[in-house]
Order: sequence, then structure tokens, then C-alpha cells
Amino acid sequence: MKNIAVIGAGTMGNGIAHVFAQNGYRVNLIDISEKSLEKALATIEKNMDRMVAKEKISEADKKEALSRLTTTTEMLSGVENADLVVEAATENVELKLKIFKDLDAMTPEHCILSSNTSSISITKIAAQTKRADKVIGMHFMNPVPVMKLVEVIRGYATSDEVTSAVMELSQKLGKAPVEVNDYPGFVANRILMPMINEAIISLHEGVAGVEEIDTVMKLGMAHPMGPLQLADFIGLDVCLSILNVLHDGFGNPKYAPCPLLVNMVTAGKLGVKSGEGFYAYTPGSKDLVVAPNFA
Ligand code: NAD
Repeated sequence: MKNIAVIGAGTMGNGIAHVFAQNGYRVNLIDISEKSLEKALATIEKNMDRMVAKEKISEADKKEALSRLTTTTEMLSGVENADLVVEAATENVELKLKIFKDLDAMTPEHCILSSNTSSISITKIAAQTKRADKVIGMHFMNPVPVMKLVEVIRGYATSDEVTSAVMELSQKLGKAPVEVNDYPGFVANRILMPMINEAIISLHEGVAGVEEIDTVMKLGMAHPMGPLQLADFIGLDVCLSILNVLHDGFGNPKYAPCPLLVNMVTAGKLGVKSGEGFYAYTPGSKDLVVAPNFA
């Protein structure tokens, strides 16, 4: 695999493109928004500069990596030579189903189609294509250049060959891949999201405040970040959508999203990306300040 197409240049897409380019792959980063592409390139450059400053890569490595990276808003020209596609577009079922149907028609026959989805069924996505054996989940963690794990999700029809190829490729990227089967939330979010939801329920019921809940989990369980801060970082809309997938997929009320989470998302309080969630975020400041609603 030499030519990689990454679809979606947001939070995850820019990190995925960064990691592939840095490891010698030619990457075409595709987004419908020119602005997202510009922002992604600037982020990749800034993150590589940081790695140069920390002497993890040289200035020459950075230049070479950036020279392997191209961007486009034209889906067809971006994928027609791809050996592997990593789809990291917005977490929306209808959108992903449409993208995979298009990819099946636009990519070479040998091309593996992967999705970075946090929760949408790989089996369902694969069913949109005539190559379900070559459709797989590559669930990178945020921030991609830093986090080691890749959850490799086998859909119902994913072949052994494709699974092995993607496991091997993830290792070549310096990541630690873990193979899991395709059930709602896979492993990472099936365990993480109920914990975040329970933290929000504890806040909602007045068991403790935002800082107190996060401190218990940081100091008591050695978590680097409390669950409420982590929810803000992931995006409260993303958390809600994953909980809905778990709730619908298992039909078990234990996964029902806390009404406080639903209210916050409805009010546009999405966490770091909107400037406010459980904490309030001021650009340029690293201080963690509890949001006015919870102060
Ligand atoms: P994001 O909102 O930051 O970026 C999504 C990008 O997709 C945007 O730039 C948007 O313009 C683009 N896009 C939308 N429709 C498109 C199309 N038809 N073709 C090309 N690009 C299109 O989202 P994100 O947080 O980067 O999430 C992307 C995927 O990664 C989702 O499936 C999400 O569940 C998954 N994920 C997110 C995280 C996280 O912490 N944010 C972690 C793991 C996995």
C-alpha cells in the first residue's frame, strides 16, 4: 500500500493524514470544504514543527512528509489511485453510507475501504459496497499523532487477508492495533461512553460538582483527564451520538443518554469546539475553568 486517501480533514482526518505522510506514504486529503483543508494543512505543519522542536523528527523529515501530502475537494481525483481509503468524515450514518457507495464505484478494485467511525456499524457500511470483504474499521484515537491505539474493527464479511494487512499497516505507522468485532461501540466506546454518561448523571443528580467528579477519577483511578473534561474534548455531540448508537443497538436502557447531556447539545454547548461544555474555554488559555452553568 503506497497511496492513501483520507476523506474528511477535520480533527481526526488531519491527524491521520499527518501520521501516514510522516511514515512515507503518499496521502491525498479530501474534504468538501476548502477551509477545512487549509486549516488541516496548517495544523499538520504546526504539529510537525512541535515534533521538530522536541527532536522527534528533523526539519528534513518534516519537509519530505509535507511533500507527500496533497489536498483536494474533488473526491474522484483524490481516490482513483488509492490503495487504501481512510474515511474520517462527519459522524453521520447517511453521509457515510453515501460516501462508501461512491467509493466503491470510484476506487480501484484492490483498494481497501476503511472507516474511522466511532460507532457506526462497519457491517452496515460494507453492505453499501460490492467488496464487503475489503471494508474494515480503522478507529484511530484523538490526537492521532500522539495516541498509540488503533482499534481495527472486522465487519461481518471482512476477510482475514484484509484484517492482517490493516493490522500490519497500523504497526508500520508506529501504532498498536487491536482487533475487535463489529458490535455497537466496538470496545473503546462501549466502555468509555457509559463511564462518561455516569459522570454526567452524577453531576445532574447533584452527587458532586464538575471539578469534584473529575478529581475523583484523576486522583483515584489515575486517569490523565477526568470524564467530564474528556467529554468536552471529544465533543458532547459526538458523545451523545455514540450513546444513541449503543442505546439503539442493544435496546438496553442502561445506555440512555443523560437528559443533561441532551440539553447541553441542544443548547449548542459542545465542549472545546464550541468554547463551552462542562468547562469554559478561552482561546490561548490553558486554564481549566468550570462553565458558568456549573460554577
Ligand atoms: P470533524 O467534524 O472535526 O471533521 C469532519 C470533516 O468531514 C469536516 O472537515 C467536514 O467538512 C468533512 N466532511 C463532511 N462531509 C464530507 C464529505 N462528503 N466528503 C469529504 N469530507 C466531508 O469530525 P472528527 O471529530 O474529525 O470526526 C471524524 C470521524 O472520526 C467521525 O466518524 C468520528 O466519529 C470519528 N472519531 C472522532 C474522534 C474524536 O475524538 N473527535 C475520535 C475517534 C473517531
